[in-house]
Amino acid sequence: MRILVTGGAGFLGSHLCERLLKDGHEVTCLDNLFTGEKSNIAPLLSHPGFEFMRHDIVDPFKLEVDRIYNLACPASPIHYQYNPIKTVKTSVMGAINCLGLAKRVKARILQASTSEVYGDPDIHPQTEDYRGNVNPIGSRACYDEGKRCAETLFFDYHRENKVDIRVVRIFNTYGPRMHPEDGRVVSNFIVQALRGEDITIYGSGQQTRSFCYVDDLIEGIVRLMEQEETVGPVNLGNPDEFTILELAEKVLQLCESQSKITFGELPGDDPKQRQPDISLARKYLDWEPGCDLQSGLRKTIAYFKEKLKAS
Ligand code: NAD
Ligand code: UDP
Repeated sequence: MRILVTGGAGFLGSHLCERLLKDGHEVTCLDNLFTGEKSNIAPLLSHPGFEFMRHDIVDPFKLEVDRIYNLACPASPIHYQYNPIKTVKTSVMGAINCLGLAKRVKARILQASTSEVYGDPDIHPQTEDYRGNVNPIGSRACYDEGKRCAETLFFDYHRENKVDIRVVRIFNTYGPRMHPEDGRVVSNFIVQALRGEDITIYGSGQQTRSFCYVDDLIEGIVRLMEQEETVGPVNLGNPDEFTILELAEKVLQLCESQSKITFGELPGDDPKQRQPDISLARKYLDWEPGCDLQSGLRKTIAYFKEKLKAS
């Protein structure tokens, strides 16, 4: 198949492009390189089935494709809050441009949505029928509400125009090719531990997250795209839940680091707990994550050791 991956030069997108090429597809990666890097896709550039298009998804574009994976959007709080209006445009106008294309060329289209649509959740773990607790005027809203509106657009194009959609709600995912400076917790802690800098916990460290290794996530996304039983939304993530303090301690131990843990201010609207209910993914995709936090961290630490050595 001819497949478009928007945001294909980013962390998840580059792993997805690689996987789809391995499966024998032709892949076009569309990215404006805001948070993505050419180095993420450098090994793919010589592949005859791969094409890179530097383009901003907010501006319309034309292509002939069979599948669209829409991943273009900065995902870390510091990057999506850098220009919040642009973040909303990327999610909303990006979705409209991709859905318009899917409608014209009759492509199946998948939206990379997020656990952030649940906001600071008051049910635990989060099931797909939970409608969320998002502050529409807070500092995270540009991302959360942008993603919620994108889901709305996907379902309206599906109902009104019969566009063949899939929607995945991704929970915190980590692994090689995260940007070392992108501010997310796993990359921050590993880079700090390897450099011998203080580990910066925001708040008390008692807030929780559930961390999924990238290979597990990519498998789930591809399965969701290619099955016929549900359009979603389907949660994908690892249900093993850890406090941020536990994560810091694990990273320190695995890096054999002497870094000290410090406690700073908690950012506004930071969710207190997050854990996916993955019953639907088990049922429809026969999917569950196979990589535990310890093994995933080891692989990610090995990647960052090399990356920091080279820089
Ligand atoms: P990332 O920042 O590494 O990748 C996003 C990519 O989108 C980058 O390559 C960036 O340059 C590109 N991009 C941003 N704005 C664009 C625009 N206007 N036009 C074209 N390209 C643009 O982040 P990621 O972790 O790989 O996330 C990929 C997708 O998955 C995002 O949509 C994100 O919201 C979603 N997601 C990720 C996670 C996670 O834990 N990694 C969790 C939930 C949802
Ligand atoms: N966090 C932290 N120190 C850091 C980066 C993040 O304590 O250096 C916390 C952050 O406040 C949040 C959790 O770790 O409670 C996960 O943050 P991340 O930005 O990775 O993802 P999200 O909040 O979007 O789930």
